Amino acid sequence: MMMRDREYPKTHDWGRTVVVWSGGADSTCLLNHYAGVSSEDWPIVALSVVAYPHISRPLLQKQAEVQKRYLEWAKRRGYHIKHHTMRVTGSFGYGREGNAPQPSLWLAALSQILDERDRVMMGYIRTDDVWHCMSEFRDVFDAFCKLKEFKHAKLEFPFEWEHKVDILRRLKKGKVPDRCWFSCDHTKDGKPCGQCSKCDELAAARALLKKQDVARKVIMLDDKPKKKRKR
Ligand SMILES: [Zn+2]
Repeated sequence: MMMRDREYPKTHDWGRTVVVWSGGADSTCLLNHYAGVSSEDWPIVALSVVAYPHISRPLLQKQAEVQKRYLEWAKRRGYHIKHHTMRVTGSFGYGREGNAPQPSLWLAALSQILDERDRVMMGYIRTDDVWHCMSEFRDVFDAFCKLKEFKHAKLEFPFEWEHKVDILRRLKKGKVPDRCWFSCDHTKDGKPCGQCSKCDELAAARALLKKQDVARKVIMLDDKPKKKRKR
């Protein structure tokens, strides 16, 4: 494995919030959540990984495209984000039977920028595979912190109990345009393939969101006070 370190900001007195950002719905939603409280003195650090050939070229291109769009949009809203990209090459295996290679990519990237008081946020939701190897993931993170003598660095998963529909609702509430994120594992041309598990999950969540919004409107209409009939 080879990794090129990029310049990253110095630790702030009270630490940084580092959001691990792939450009997908979940991590963009998480980044947007914290970017809302960012300031010039306290920017949110977004960490991305360009892992080739682990991630296909069309997907990497699409990720870069939506990340650029999101950053431009966020800047117009007055958010302060410092984006850092790590380039990683090589093969990865992680967890039982090497079924969750993504966390090892993030750990490799994090090891390059992690600082004493960093609060690392990851946007995994309850249906993600990562929970099957979470104890190993935390063990590696803790071992790394111990090695560096970091006593205060933290790893957090704020969306641990969220479903995809909750993420879509948050994105909608935050007015994040759909063109600012992309979730599909097998795109060949920068468009959703419509066949992978991410596309399936997204389609189901979109349908559910629509249904819930309709139900909410009906409830709101029911709540309106009824006009008194004229006698
Ligand atoms: Zn897909």
